[in-house]
Amino acid sequence: MFAKRVSALAQSPTMAIDAKAKAFKKQGIPVINLSVGEPNFQTPEHIKEAAHRAITEGMTFYTASEGILELREAIATKFKQDNNISYDPSQIIVGTGSKQLLYCAFQVLCDPGDEVIIPLPAWGTFSEQVKLAEGKPVFISMNSPFKLTAQDVKKVLTPRTKILLLNSPSNPTGAIVDPDELEKIAALAIKEKFFIITDEIYEKLVYTQKHVSIASLNEQIKEQTITINGVSKSYAMTGWRIGYAAGSQKVIAKMKALQSQLITHASSLSQVAAVEALIGDQKPLAAMKTEFVKRRAFCIREFKTLKNISFAEPEGAFYIFFSVEKLLGEQYPTATAWAEALLEKEKVAVIPGEAFSYPGYIRLSYSASMEDLEEAITRIKQFIML
Ligand code: PLP
Repeated sequence: MFAKRVSALAQSPTMAIDAKAKAFKKQGIPVINLSVGEPNFQTPEHIKEAAHRAITEGMTFYTASEGILELREAIATKFKQDNNISYDPSQIIVGTGSKQLLYCAFQVLCDPGDEVIIPLPAWGTFSEQVKLAEGKPVFISMNSPFKLTAQDVKKVLTPRTKILLLNSPSNPTGAIVDPDELEKIAALAIKEKFFIITDEIYEKLVYTQKHVSIASLNEQIKEQTITINGVSKSYAMTGWRIGYAAGSQKVIAKMKALQSQLITHASSLSQVAAVEALIGDQKPLAAMKTEFVKRRAFCIREFKTLKNISFAEPEGAFYIFFSVEKLLGEQYPTATAWAEALLEKEKVAVIPGEAFSYPGYIRLSYSASMEDLEEAITRIKQFIML
């Protein structure tokens, strides 16, 4: 009955577990939800106020499909200031979250059978979207601490390689691609003529080194790169659904054409809010980062005390990706079974590694309050001892 394209398509496992945890909460069950990658902070007040003003002033009409010029200018300024990349606003498109722009990028670049290299573990959305574009995901299975090298990429190149997907800092590992490797990867992409799609949604949440955008390295790699980003994670604006992409005129023009047939444009009110997020007071962003630094330090300290659990210290984002392989066996044969039991018995929601094509591991999001994190660790300790 269904088209081949979607016959194997399942709901995002992260969203499914999040929904289960939220349903428990509604029933009054004290679940701690460390599944979804969503900051627990409210959107800063000045951003909310900008959206209020937009309603009052009647910004309730259709906007340009690629987004209002004011926002694309603010994004161009952000790219220049933060990443040292010069984009004209015409090289920028705004969409309903970075997820939708990733979808558009794969749709406009992939022909059936084109290969897209995805380093694992990876956010499951990447490979699902590649398949929806009839591309072929080609995986690189990395080992802890999950740091991608140009050599890893070289090994899986074929004449059908079309795109390399980068996600640094990574969901789920928090790993960052080191700048010298980024240089080598850029050189390889130029030599072998493949595109880079780089998802930099966690760029503001780096703890061990400065974020480097691959498109900033030279003009040629900039031409071959589509940089994806958004305001969801850095400005606590997940529900507003604003993401953006930047790249060559040609690719962005095609993405605009697709978007105009798909969603028309992102919400006008959310676009105004995003302008304020990018050009307004940046203090709340620093305050949130300070909080994440504390939570990360707490999780690292606590996880080091857990028996039979191993992990690499995350360099960015807000996840701990830990191995439960030593805890698997007859009772819990897989990480999925382990995560389900943790939710059932201790009411802590986490995501099993299978969702990132990496069995034996668990992703815990520390984008929750310190109080919740402390209680979650107590419950996990209890669960491990059972
Ligand atoms: N990219 C990565 C790597 C993510 O982890 C997520 C959300 O979890 C997104 C993109 C989605 O972000 P947005 O809210 O902009 O669609």
